[in-house]
Amino acid sequence: MEQLDKEKSLVVIPLGALEQHGNQAPLITDTLIASEMTRRISNILSDKKDTLAGNVLFFPVIPIGYSVEHASFCGSITFRPDTYYHVLADIVTGLNSHGFKNFAFLICHGGNRAIAEVVSRQLRRDLGVKIYLITSGAFSSPKVKATLSHGNESDFHGGEMETSMVMAIDESMVDLKSCKAGHYSLGSDKGKLNFFGSLSLPWMGEDFTAEDDTPIGIGGNPSGASAKKGEIILDESANEAANGIIELLTYL
Ligand SMILES: [Zn+2]
Repeated sequence: MEQLDKEKSLVVIPLGALEQHGNQAPLITDTLIASEMTRRISNILSDKKDTLAGNVLFFPVIPIGYSVEHASFCGSITFRPDTYYHVLADIVTGLNSHGFKNFAFLICHGGNRAIAEVVSRQLRRDLGVKIYLITSGAFSSPKVKATLSHGNESDFHGGEMETSMVMAIDESMVDLKSCKAGHYSLGSDKGKLNFFGSLSLPWMGEDFTAEDDTPIGIGGNPSGASAKKGEIILDESANEAANGIIELLTYL
């Protein structure tokens, strides 16, 4: 680590979470995905044999993030916004004190993004460091969209895509028989209110309900999940993230 050209190095900091992902998938889903993404990105970079790829370091996955939207479901643990801000800021400040100036947060839980963005902008101003943001799931890529079962196009949290990724990592951690689908319960078909878009209310897990109207906390239907689909999603996501890293190395 001491021998690296720190000005030309990039430290990737993977951001996980500990939060409910439905009956069928484990609390550590996002952290598992973060570890797997790190492993795959690292393999892709070593295969490229690009001289710059040797300048990428991976920080250990941070296993807890900002997950207040899942806090009313058993097992979910969240940092408060100011705690999480300072966790990320202290890690970057520590690495910067050793000479590193370029970082990337690998965002493996969407809820972490807002705070990661604030930290990135503030430390760019305060320390003169650059912190890039890499989103782990290539959920909008056509190959990933093609894995979704018919009628499950709005799948996003704890649904078919995330459950499939866990199955590709370790099938024994998923209990597909216990799964239920979750739908957004606020707004109306005619109105604009949705959990994203031009009129939104920052959502909470309880806004998503099962068919019997009980809060389920997931968006989507996991029943069509499979390890094969997860492999496609992880492969696509890791390639997209690795290509992003290769591009940003040229800016250092
Ligand atoms: Zn997740």
